[in-house]
Amino acid sequence: MSARILVVDDVPANVKLLEARLSAEYFDVMTASNGTEALAICHRAECDIILLDVMMPDMDGFEVCRRIKSDPATHHIPVVMVTALDSPSDRNRGLEAGADDFLTKPVSDVVLIARVRSLTRLKMMTDELRMRAITSLEIGMQAPERSAVSDTGKGGRILLVDDRQSSYERLATILAAEHTIDVEPNPTEALFHAAEGNYDLLIVSLDLNNFDGLRLCSQARSLERTRHVPILAIADPENATRLLRGLEIGVNDYLLRPIDKTELLARARTQIRRRRYTDHLRDNVQNSIEMAITDALTGLHNRRYMESHLATLAEQAATRGKPLALMILDIDFFKSINDNYGHDAGDDVLREFAVRVRKSIRGIDLACRYGGEEFVIVMPETDLHVAGMVAERLRRSIAGEPFAIHKGAMRIEVTISIGLTTLERKGEAVADVLKRADTALYRAKHDGRNRVVSQAA
Ligand code: GH3
Ligand code: MG
Ligand code: MG
Repeated sequence: MSARILVVDDVPANVKLLEARLSAEYFDVMTASNGTEALAICHRAECDIILLDVMMPDMDGFEVCRRIKSDPATHHIPVVMVTALDSPSDRNRGLEAGADDFLTKPVSDVVLIARVRSLTRLKMMTDELRMRAITSLEIGMQAPERSAVSDTGKGGRILLVDDRQSSYERLATILAAEHTIDVEPNPTEALFHAAEGNYDLLIVSLDLNNFDGLRLCSQARSLERTRHVPILAIADPENATRLLRGLEIGVNDYLLRPIDKTELLARARTQIRRRRYTDHLRDNVQNSIEMAITDALTGLHNRRYMESHLATLAEQAATRGKPLALMILDIDFFKSINDNYGHDAGDDVLREFAVRVRKSIRGIDLACRYGGEEFVIVMPETDLHVAGMVAERLRRSIAGEPFAIHKGAMRIEVTISIGLTTLERKGEAVADVLKRADTALYRAKHDGRNRVVSQAA
């Protein structure tokens, strides 16, 4: 994983120094000597992380950072401010501008590399999500970028794990000004608490009594429910080296005691903003996956999904020696429902039909809309006899209760015909199974509709 680092500094010697150290660690380095040049590089998406000098003629680093962070196209690029100034107020100006971290010149090698590595991991993960989420943008979902640049990072849910009362009381009071905060003074309970609580940020003290805070951080990283929750570690200065170890195992940011109030708030906001952004991306990816396999009108699976999944189910049935039943259901004289009551009424019938189908089948059964008013249900571990009873129950659930149309103003009779078969021979092609069910359906239609016809393999 070789990230491209953009080093921005107006003093050529400073650029050379950072470039040499980063290249030695096999990072790709690009350089810029002023803010305008840096912004152009960011815009062309040519860099993964920016090391940004604060004091530059024309546009200073704070302004460059603000512009990067307020532009939907670049806001996700991590920015590390590098400066000779090291007063809390300078640090806070950088953090307020949206910087992800602040390094002081002369920059320590170990700290620089640890930080750049950790931000590289973050950037790669975000890029992957962005790439997948692009599909969902194309099909018209809301762009996560738009809400991300206007997110204040306030109003988060934070879990603070700290067993020193004087410390957690102070931290909790500070954080409560902008967030909802829970305190967990017992580190052995913390992981459980974190997994249950749906938090936006975990703040973990590394100075716990008889407990390794880093272990907690690494456990939180491997647990499904806390894997994506950012972690901010805090430690006494004598524990500073453990903080670097923390960055390696997935801690996102850290603070040394004594904790500066403004800095704590700024760093918490940055983490929470990121968390919301990546969550949003993840949701979009999830939604687009769901949309790709779901029929929009009925909410059942679509044909594409059924066809790819049916092969897997058939294979499973064959290797486990279990039966697999498949039925095709077709609404009778559906065309005349459309003709007599309108297309919307037809849609109402399709929706209600799907509701009744869902009620009649088990969770492991696969129901899909195969075509206009044609549906397929696949039932694992079900033989022809049992499937026949299910099909009959389904038929009755449709014919036995009229369907509401025109917003409930009218009710009409609907019936279905069902063709049913099973896969029994090992290695039989699913296309042949579908064909057999279709032949059975044809007979059901031919014999007078509103009936089930079974066809043994
Ligand atoms: P049969 O009993 O032989 O199945 O007759 P049928 O009228 O149900 O069959 P046919 O295949 O002739 O007509 C199906 C109709 O379903 C034609 C089509 O316009 C309608 N249809 C397909 N998709 C939709 C849809 O999404 N909404 C509505 N309202 N109608 C649809
Ligand atoms: Mg029909
Ligand atoms: Mg039809």
